[in-house]
Amino acid sequence: SLEQGPEGQETPIQVVLRVRPMSAAELRRGEQSALHCSGTRTLQVSPPGGGPDVAFRFGAVLDGARTQEDVFRACGVRRLGELALRGFSCTVFTFGQTGSGKTYTLTGPPPQGEGVPVPPSLAGIMQRTFTWLLDRVQHLDAAVTLRASYLEIYNEQVRDLLSVGCPRPLPVRWNKTRGFYVEQLRVVEIGSLEALMELLQMGLSRRRSSAHTLNQASSRSHALLTLYISRPRPQPQQMPPMGPGELPAGGKLCFVDLAGSEKVATTGSRGELMLEANSINRSLLALGHCISLLLDPQRKQNHIPFRDSKLTKLLADSLGGRGVTLMVACVSPSAQCLPETLSTLRYASRAQ
Ligand code: ADP
Ligand code: MG
Repeated sequence: SLEQGPEGQETPIQVVLRVRPMSAAELRRGEQSALHCSGTRTLQVSPPGGGPDVAFRFGAVLDGARTQEDVFRACGVRRLGELALRGFSCTVFTFGQTGSGKTYTLTGPPPQGEGVPVPPSLAGIMQRTFTWLLDRVQHLDAAVTLRASYLEIYNEQVRDLLSVGCPRPLPVRWNKTRGFYVEQLRVVEIGSLEALMELLQMGLSRRRSSAHTLNQASSRSHALLTLYISRPRPQPQQMPPMGPGELPAGGKLCFVDLAGSEKVATTGSRGELMLEANSINRSLLALGHCISLLLDPQRKQNHIPFRDSKLTKLLADSLGGRGVTLMVACVSPSAQCLPETLSTLRYASRAQ
């Protein structure tokens, strides 16, 4: 299922599940694992009080022994990169409760101290995709420029994490050629992994959070790092006829570290992805709602309410139009986390 192209797409979202290893704290408290993988696509959940196992199937299931490289491979992100090079909009987002490994999966662990680099083996999906893209671009004849922006959505305000000076809330606008876009968002050309890492660190240090509340605030905001791929338009005489799924120029890849999904409820009577409206942010609520409608077999007739939140506006082209979205659902193995884990699993399995 991870091999389908956007033209022959059956579902708008491809879903991979990652179970992180038990943390030192969970082990110290003597917590038991409630999850085990059977095969490469099925997760078994054992309820702590006994009772029958519940199975969930995904595009891929990765247990705590899987490395960052394994995850990158299983996610088929290279295919997303190829599509972005051809002009499509692609998104990778991580979903799960706070502490489940979303940030680790997307961008790797934080540096252990000033000037202590994160070992390349721990690099996340974002760095690996970028490295792959750089390599790919160097082998193309056409000059391709890679640029990046980095923003945060917090309390339904978009803040540019790369702005010169103090980040101010920026408006999201729409026009015919660009679709939804953030006005005055700073976009920076990047030509190396080091430059991307610098940008990431700069952005992280400016997220809406003071040091001691970092985890709390980052668990309530969405961080979007977007890579823009621009290729010059070929001269008409060298231009091959464009295929139906082909776009002229300007693909992008967006990496989204979503807010913590705690309090996500999956109580929809018709299998909808439901969130408790008053307990979690509007963007996460709207995302679940848009995905539900996109999955509706009659979706041709459906109006998808991308305008309901900042996040869904900015992901509209990947989700609804000419693009591909990959969701990496992240969970803790601990039985202690099972209620939240089950709601993540239900949400994720209904999104595919
Ligand atoms: P989230 O972003 O979902 O809140 P984090 O990515 O910050 O969660 O992960 C929580 C903690 O678990 C961090 O200390 C992180 O380094 C660690 N962690 C997460 N996933 C893994 C993994 N696969 N292997 C080792 N450590 C992990
Ligand atoms: Mg995080």
